[in-house]
Amino acid sequence: MTPALHATAPLPAEPLELLRTMLEDDFAAQTARLTQLTVYARLPRRAGYDVHTLNGQAADARQRIADTARALRRMSEGTYGRCEACHRPIPLGRLRNAPHATRCTLCDRDR
Ligand SMILES: [Zn+2]
Repeated sequence: MTPALHATAPLPAEPLELLRTMLEDDFAAQTARLTQLTVYARLPRRAGYDVHTLNGQAADARQRIADTARALRRMSEGTYGRCEACHRPIPLGRLRNAPHATRCTLCDRDR
């Protein structure tokens, strides 16, 4: 049996660790971004941002934080890298571009 075909590990350990690092870095970056935006919102002139832009960026940061946390949870549960819709492995190239992806490209397109 080759490691790549091991039933409980859809992804080899090395890329998985790289993706985990990417997710953890993104989680930290988005949390810092949301903190900064929250500070801007409290400034008298919101650091030059209009309310609409500030709210939009904060919503985007919150969504990224939620997606990233979900991906990290799926890693700890052992379900990371499997499409939530068709249960097939999500190609590594897609995960490298979007480590928080929960669906393969085909299922994401069908949504
Ligand atoms: Zn799928």
